[in-house]
Amino acid sequence: MGIFGDVWQRALKNQIHQTSRAETPVLLDMGRKHAPPFLTFVLLAAILFFMSKTLTRTICIKLDIDGHEAALQETQQQFNEAASWIASLCWHEHITNTTTAHHRVYGETRTRFGLGAQLACCARAKAVEAIKTVRVQQKQRQPDQKPAECPQFGSRGSIRYDARTYRLLSLARVSLSTLQGRVICQMVLGKRQHAMLIDPAWTIGGADLVWKRGTYYLHVTQGREAPHQTETPETLGVDLGIVSLATDSTGETFSGAKVREVRLRYHRRRQSVQRVGTRSAKRRLKKMSGREKRFQTDTNHKISTALVQKAVRTRKALALEDLTGIRERTKMVQRKHRYERQSWAFSQLRTYIAYKAAWAGIPVRLVDPRNTSRTCSQCGHCEKANRQNQASFRCKQCGFCCNADYNAAINIARVAVKQPMVATRKG
Ligand SMILES: [Zn+2]
Repeated sequence: MGIFGDVWQRALKNQIHQTSRAETPVLLDMGRKHAPPFLTFVLLAAILFFMSKTLTRTICIKLDIDGHEAALQETQQQFNEAASWIASLCWHEHITNTTTAHHRVYGETRTRFGLGAQLACCARAKAVEAIKTVRVQQKQRQPDQKPAECPQFGSRGSIRYDARTYRLLSLARVSLSTLQGRVICQMVLGKRQHAMLIDPAWTIGGADLVWKRGTYYLHVTQGREAPHQTETPETLGVDLGIVSLATDSTGETFSGAKVREVRLRYHRRRQSVQRVGTRSAKRRLKKMSGREKRFQTDTNHKISTALVQKAVRTRKALALEDLTGIRERTKMVQRKHRYERQSWAFSQLRTYIAYKAAWAGIPVRLVDPRNTSRTCSQCGHCEKANRQNQASFRCKQCGFCCNADYNAAINIARVAVKQPMVATRKG
């Protein structure tokens, strides 16, 4: 809940200081074609959902900064120096309260770093938020991990903008506060981003100006109320796995074969590149891990979309295994679950399913994962030997034979019906 809580607060704050809605519809300048499609590389990035109350999403937009490089870079440097200074000060004086931090650093931030009133507030917001995140991580850290350190920001770190320091203008332009006054940059919008920006269901909040390999991007945050959840007694159970990434209780499977193949291919290439060990080899390695990650992310998007659409179509709630706190509840963690807990790809798929369900007003029920894979979905007999191997299930009592993941998915759906509704959680 920690990180979510912070971002949620930010989302709520954004809604209060939202930019004028009247301005957004004039972004309709789609005709500009000053960058080839591959350069308009832009993607929908981090999307988070919050306890079925407020949803936020981020749109990443490439900027054409048109000669404002110097002003932006100078602002970026001063802003991040200021944020680092504020962070150190608050860290050592144990300040995590926004108001206390504001009174302590506001005046000095302005005189020391030459930031305007609003940018000074944004630098403080960035610093305090980073400290809160680190403090939360510190509480959750394992005994063998090294202690948390005070967050610091590089001179090319992002600039936080709020409704008073940036403004969306007509013709897909954006006005940004800098140390040399306001500068106007062109947003390079794809069709999808444009549609997202003008979607009246979403309220535009703050934004981060991000510099990445020589290009500036604006990460615009949007928020909205979560749609009302549809009450339904029926449930679509989903079993997540390695061989089949997902299997639902109607028997549809989403194979992990392609993902495994890509992973294996990159793994082999990585080994050969690692043997070389030069600097350019390391660069290539980094590029490859990015590509592998993007492939996995894309696959997770497709699976989660398909599952949620199916739930909407068939008017069912979704049910997943609850993997939070599994260690406390069972001494023996099944090997599958151990892998799931550790893999970012699994938690990403679970998160995607959860927030897409929240958008669509589909309830997500989390069920106790114990015995879901060793119980017979026909007669209810539970025995470890029921599960013959990774792939197949055969009941020792009634002889029912079935794909093991499918059997588990049916159990998950069934258990969920008996259980009271639970809020969606990050997996
Ligand atoms: Zn049986």
